Amino acid sequence: MAATPSVEIAARGAKQSAVLEFLKSGPKKLLIGGKWVASKSGKTFETINPANEEVLALVAEGDKADVDEAVKAARKAFEEGKWPKLGPHQRARFLFKIADAIDAHADELAELESLDNGKPLSQARAIDVPAAAETFRYYAGWCSKIYGETNPSDPSMFNYTLREPVGVCGQIIPWNFPLLMAAWKVAPALACGNTTILKPAEQTPLTAIRLGELLCELGLPDGVFNLITGFGPGAGSSIAEHPDIDKVAFTGSAEVGRLILHASEGNLKKVSLELGGKSPNIIFPDAEMEAAVPNAMMGVFYNSGQVCAAGTRIFVQRDIYDNFVEQLTKYTQGMTMGDPLDPKTKMGPLVSKEQFDKVKGYLDIGRKEGAKVTIGGEAAAGKGYYVKPTIFVDVNNDMRIAREEIFGPVAATIPFKDENDAVFQGNNTTYGLAAAVWTRDVGRAHKVARALKAGTVWVNCYGMVDPISPFGGYKQSGFGRELGKYAVDLYTQVKTVFVKL
Ligand code: NAP
Ligand code: MG
Repeated sequence: MAATPSVEIAARGAKQSAVLEFLKSGPKKLLIGGKWVASKSGKTFETINPANEEVLALVAEGDKADVDEAVKAARKAFEEGKWPKLGPHQRARFLFKIADAIDAHADELAELESLDNGKPLSQARAIDVPAAAETFRYYAGWCSKIYGETNPSDPSMFNYTLREPVGVCGQIIPWNFPLLMAAWKVAPALACGNTTILKPAEQTPLTAIRLGELLCELGLPDGVFNLITGFGPGAGSSIAEHPDIDKVAFTGSAEVGRLILHASEGNLKKVSLELGGKSPNIIFPDAEMEAAVPNAMMGVFYNSGQVCAAGTRIFVQRDIYDNFVEQLTKYTQGMTMGDPLDPKTKMGPLVSKEQFDKVKGYLDIGRKEGAKVTIGGEAAAGKGYYVKPTIFVDVNNDMRIAREEIFGPVAATIPFKDENDAVFQGNNTTYGLAAAVWTRDVGRAHKVARALKAGTVWVNCYGMVDPISPFGGYKQSGFGRELGKYAVDLYTQVKTVFVKL
């Protein structure tokens, strides 16, 4: 049995009394059918503050037996409960209330996210939490806009389509934007009238648990939202395999994406996968450098590089390569790394020891492959999983540091000859999540945007995401699009009705 965590030590510097209360209120439980329960096995696991490596809380380790219970509750809520049958305006009002509750608890949720994940509090407060609220608000609007069609079939028939919820959804999310990823999954699922079982990442379960508490307080009917904390093998795999789950939505590594796809075979559940990336950020000589340089920096180092759409391959036209790298290196000196709760901090630690070891491993791999470091290239001394922002030069696109997703603050800068070469190298990857192009030539911007094989292309900006626009990958970055009206397709199915007149 693990020792009781010392919240004072693990959450040192935390200011929100609600956060301290939440952390001190004992081991966190699973939410099944509207009740908070311990896992059937009685097992718990630790969630750690990556800034100081101390245990923040013990969390129930859900397993197959718990997933079975959650599926029963979600099935009952779907087949017999009022949520799927609720009028669209009532459902919308509920989603608006969720958004308002997130806003009302924004300081608390941001601090909890920062403690559990290690991201700077300022960024969690400015980005993650408001974006989660906005996602619920956006999908609240969709509740009343999920239309079927009337079809010009034979005159003896009245033929129309209905868009109906898919049913019980399993939703497995990663640790890089924990609350926001929960919102991307849960908001459209609920808007479309589904019931859901969410499995947050083992590294960052806390904001999902707090969201579950808020949903209970708001009176969401029992079994509509269920929460199973636990590990991938166990909780996650049981969701992917479960014969009575109708749809699984996953965000995470390509490796686990394949496992999910395989596990879903049994009942041919619907699958959507949002996987990793190795996104190219292409800088032409006519780009506005005052914007391109800092944006390329944030594009790769934001969230300590733990972003699926991070611009990790920075392609720079050969004539300006040395100068660009020099400026990028200079800017990166200002990427203050430190205590996530300190307002001056721009970059926190990596999420876990595992991620820390993985990223450090790539720093060695890059050097062995012959690339050189202009800044960083090592971990910081002391406690916490801090790796310094690192820029590699003399990289070529075939090196492992240019091909494999590192998911840390590591930039590979690669020269290119001309437009064709930039597009060829940019597309020469197994991934296709995002890409960016920097140029003042409007024709070139559009041409390159079209030529890049990526689910999102940014022109003269980096990292813009809006619930209004689809997000997802080409190639091995997955399939299915989240956000926008596309998520309504993921969480509904279409029924054709023929009526003989
Ligand atoms: P991961 O294993 O793919 O984790 C994502 C989610 O899947 C977590 O909730 C995880 O549970 C769960 N999971 C793991 N194995 C599973 C299985 N067999 N069946 C069902 N669910 C399973 O990612 P990670 O290991 O945390 O990170 C590894 C790498 O993935 C990173 O270095 C990065 O390259 C990539 N990644 C990508 C994204 C993205 O947004 N595309 C996000 C995070 C990581 P556990 O928490 O217990 O593992
Ligand atoms: Mg944690």
